Amino acid sequence: MAGIKLQGVSKVYGTTTAVAPTDLIIEDGEFLVLVGPSGCGKTTTLRMICGLEAPSEGNIFIGERNVTKLEPKDRDIAMVFQSYALYPHKNVYDNMAFGLRIRKRSKQEIDAAVKETAEMLGISQYLNRYPKELSGGQRQRVALGRAIVRHPQAFLMDEPLSNLDAKLRVQTRAELIKLHQKLKITVIYVTHDQIEAMTMGSRLVVMKDGLVQQVGSPKDIYGYPANKFVAGFVGSPPMNFIKGVVEVNDMVCFKAPELTIHLPLQGGLQSLGKFEAFLGVRPEGFVWVDSTETRNCLACRVEVVEHVGAEIIIHARFGTDEEIVIKQNGYEVEPEIGSLIKVRPHQGNIHLFDAHTQQRVM
Ligand code: ATP
Repeated sequence: MAGIKLQGVSKVYGTTTAVAPTDLIIEDGEFLVLVGPSGCGKTTTLRMICGLEAPSEGNIFIGERNVTKLEPKDRDIAMVFQSYALYPHKNVYDNMAFGLRIRKRSKQEIDAAVKETAEMLGISQYLNRYPKELSGGQRQRVALGRAIVRHPQAFLMDEPLSNLDAKLRVQTRAELIKLHQKLKITVIYVTHDQIEAMTMGSRLVVMKDGLVQQVGSPKDIYGYPANKFVAGFVGSPPMNFIKGVVEVNDMVCFKAPELTIHLPLQGGLQSLGKFEAFLGVRPEGFVWVDSTETRNCLACRVEVVEHVGAEIIIHARFGTDEEIVIKQNGYEVEPEIGSLIKVRPHQGNIHLFDAHTQQRVM
């Protein structure tokens, strides 16, 4: 096993910068997720690491080796794609054995490795079946098995669960996490699904337009998004944003036509003076307040109430027809459609972003 290092790695296609110069260290044994909207450069990054694409600039290291100019087969990493790419005319056993046979391993060695891997993935009973005789989830496990059996130094996975139905996806997600804990192998996993990213990654790299926006643990990225894009991309339903003006005196005062909030002053903010900003509050970041309250609260009219298990998601409007989404415990409140409610952003759930730079201020 080995860590992976990107040093100033970029990829330009004609006039399109698919990946801007990027530095990244993936620790040995880490489960790192590249996440971002379609076209942000995730797949290109992965393809450069495995050698299917040459970087325009920069160097890639696997362990101590500079692999930038090596062929994919010489990098000792395994790639699992969303289309499982199994050989349709080979049975499961032969699909899994193929990579070892071309590496001229002995028959006994191959047999032991295939059987051990099949056992670990719970596919021993399918070794004689052909891919078309398997379900999507089973095929996906064979694809994983084919990669694991070689004991590569790292796994690269590009949306490997996207062909599975919702239930199987959740199950396979958990299996992959368990498998990673067991094998302690370096994994770089690409997805556009922020929930998948948050649940699987020990660290996330959030990308947009070929640029890394933030690198951090799921908890950090959710709790302290570096900019408005990351704040809106991670979390479901997404964070609410209210535009207003911030004035920093002995307190931080955010003012929008419908809401004024006073926050305690934090170090480093004194110099900011007055600036346009977005107040960000996650749907679960509101406290329900009495209709007589006036301080730090927002009045809004309930439009839709969705029941999601024990929680309710309220879609409401405030001010000049702006939408706000509020998540609450469904056992505690049950607002009526059309009623006026008052909520207060919870102090610990307030984020401020500079309206011009879009960067986090607090
Ligand atoms: P998705 O989630 O849709 O797969 P992605 O984040 O993986 O997207 P990439 O496939 O890495 O994005 O593409 C990044 C950018 O580079 C896109 O704008 C894409 O159109 C462009 N691009 C990718 N491959 C090529 C190519 N071979 N030639 C020209 N442009 C390309």
